Order: sequence, then C-alpha cells, then structure tokens
Amino acid sequence: MPERSPLGVPELLDLDRRHVWHPYGPMPGRVDPLVVESASGVRLRMADGSGELVDGMASWWSAIHGYNHPVLNEAVREQLGRMSHVMFGGLTHEPAVRLAKLLVDMSPDGLEHVFLADSGSVSVEVAVKMCLQYWRSLGRPGKQRLLTWRGGYHGDTWQPMSVCDPDGGMHDLWTGLLPRQVFVDAPPAEYGEAYAETLRAAIERHADELAAVVVEPVVQGAGGMRFHSPGYLRVLREACDAHGVLLVFDEIATGFGRTGALFAAGHAAVTPDVMCVGKALTGGYLTMAAALCTSRVAEGISRGEVPVLAHGPTFMGNPLAAAVACASIELLLGQDWLAEVKRIETGLRDGLAPARELAGVSDVRVLGAVGVVQLDHAVDMKAATDAAVREGVWLRPFRDLIYTMPPYVTGDVDVARIARAVCAAAREG
Ligand SMILES: *Cc1c(COP(=O)(O)O)cnc(C)c1O
Repeated sequence: MPERSPLGVPELLDLDRRHVWHPYGPMPGRVDPLVVESASGVRLRMADGSGELVDGMASWWSAIHGYNHPVLNEAVREQLGRMSHVMFGGLTHEPAVRLAKLLVDMSPDGLEHVFLADSGSVSVEVAVKMCLQYWRSLGRPGKQRLLTWRGGYHGDTWQPMSVCDPDGGMHDLWTGLLPRQVFVDAPPAEYGEAYAETLRAAIERHADELAAVVVEPVVQGAGGMRFHSPGYLRVLREACDAHGVLLVFDEIATGFGRTGALFAAGHAAVTPDVMCVGKALTGGYLTMAAALCTSRVAEGISRGEVPVLAHGPTFMGNPLAAAVACASIELLLGQDWLAEVKRIETGLRDGLAPARELAGVSDVRVLGAVGVVQLDHAVDMKAATDAAVREGVWLRPFRDLIYTMPPYVTGDVDVARIARAVCAAAREG
C-alpha cells in the first residue's frame, strides 16, 4: 500500500476548493469532488475510507486497459530510466518513431505522417492548421472555413471550440468571437437520402470557402453522445472529393476500438485526409494526442511558400508518453480486443434495457463499449452521482445524459454493476 497523503481529506478538500480549478468549474468550487487515493484495475480507491468505486468512465474514455497495469507501468518505468523528456526539435528517439509507425500501420490506409501533440484539443488545432495551410500553399487562401454538423465536440481551445455544437454546448458564450464556421443539422441515427443530400448541398455551396469538413465519425461524444450511420462518412468523403474540400475525422473519443472498429472510420472503410487521435492513445497514462495526415496533405504543405508546418510544442513527442502509448497499442492489438468490446456491448445492452421503462428516460443506446441513457430533462448531477456511488460506481453525467465508457478489462459482473448504477442514476437524476 502506498503511504497515505499527509493531508487529511477535509484539508485536501478545503485547499482544493480555494485554489484548484476543475473542468468546467467555478472558483471557488461549489461541489466537493471525491478524493481518489489510488486506482487499480477498474477500481478507484477513495481517500475517505469509503472503499472502492468501479470506474464507469475510464477517466474520460482513456484508461482502456484499466489502472496500474503491470505492462504499462513497466513501459513508463523502463523509459524513465533512459530519459523522461528531450526536445523534439533537431532530436528524435525510438519511442516517438515506434509510435508513429504503429499509428500509421493501424490507421486507415493512406494516413502516412504523424504530428505528435500534447492534448486532443491541440491535435485538432494542428489538423485545422494543416488544412488551412494546405490550401494556402496551393494558392487558395480563401479556403479557410470549416464545415461540421451540429452536436459535435472537438476540444476547448479556440479552433476546436469553433466547431463544437454552437447551441447549448459548453462554448456558446464565445459564439461572436469564434471563427464563423458552417454548420449543418446533427446527423440522424439512421441513414437517409434527405440528410445525405443536405451534406452534399452544403459542401457544394460553400466549397470555395471551405478548407475542410471536421466531424467525429459514428459517435459524437461530449457534444451529446449521439450515434449516426457510417453511411454518412462515405457521403462526406465523396462530396469532399467532388468539391475539393479536405476531410478531417476527430477520432479522439472513438479511436482504439471503442465503437467496435479500431477507428470509427473503419465502419465505413473511409480514409480521411487528416485524423486526430488522443484520449485512449496512452491507455490513459499520460497526455498525448496525434494528428495523422496523408502524403497529399503533407506534400501540399511542404511545396508552399512557407514549406514547413509551423507548430512545435515544448513537450512534443514526449518519450514517457510515447513509450506508454506504444505499450498500450501493443497490448490492445495483442489481444482479441473486439471480443472484449462486444462482450461489454452485450452486457450494457442487457443491463441498460430496464432503463427504457423508467419515467423521464427518452432514449437508451449502446454501441461498442459505449452505453447511454438520455433523459427528457437536465440531469440532477448530485442526485445522479450519489445514486451511482451508492451502487459502488463512478459516473460523470452531463446535460441530459448518463453514460458509461468503461475500460475494456471490465469483467461481466462489473459491467452489470455499472449498468445498474446508470439505471439508478437515471431513476434519481
Ligand atoms: C476529448 C476530446 C477532444 C479534446 O481532447 P483533450 O485531450 O481534452 O484536449 C477533442 N475531440 C474529441 C472528440 C474528444 O472527445
């Protein structure tokens, strides 16, 4: 057992409230967070002595192999003994090179070049910069807007915010200040020609000013946990090709098997021009993301007046993060990950079915290792979270959504428990 923090829980919470920002939080904090002492497998051990919670969130969908994994721990420890970091300008190292090769080999055919970024949002910034610069290099500087569908989420920095859902999302405060992008309606769950035509028409109409279409494929995450037919990805690919627009898939939430395909693009056998990955990239150990692009994009940029991609974060290619990312990917590909995701899918389908009968529930949906219960009202966060904790499960609902994206190593008994907690949260939230 690691030694206990010298600070007691009440002092920790007091200092936390006074000094520490939390995601989407006020200052000082108004709702006390739970203090985690350690984590192992799929369980978080709470510092207040209340015991353990099964983690239904995988730390925002990143800890796909669970916590304190011996293989991932060893990868970090081994790399730590060599170097935790060196600058990436003018230097390179094996972890980053191996990671780039793994990503190129596993991602849709045609994505050949990897920009390692330090967070998902930054990888989206880089993807947008790549697209805008590509058109500039080709003498088309007017192509600088982005098209997306509503209901998306792409991160909290400036360009990503501009393609997040413009209404009721987390960023509508900034609507007037953000670059004005082109929005079409959110994609329906089922394939329909009418919506396909909406996509084609919008891309055609705005082609002269569009650098790229930027979407989350198949599952929209933090913008509303909506699912849509992969058929729309083919429509986007064809319309983008027909009208000279680049296509960016943000696979930060969907990548590494979460939806039952290694990347959600695989459901449609479509290759985007640029693809962002993050979240599960390092198995939830360290912050790292990547923007992958095709040779066409890379060569376009490199033939331009400014023949370089002017972006280079201080901690680019961080060896610790790259080493654990390699280990996480090898761990994933070295097992029948699809069987695990399908097993969780079945468990969530069975376990969440009772939620359909609950008053106040408007929809229940499951895809891969993603389970969602949507309410017909805004969730009472405190009541919902407390109900889940009483079932021994950690969940973090938002808006009208109670959902789970558990680690792939979650056993059947724990999947059932998570599903019971989602139902309890839906009943009381
Ligand atoms: C989480 C997320 C991001 C942002 O990633 P950060 O690492 O939080 O900056 C971008 N796009 C999608 C789809 C995400 O789920």
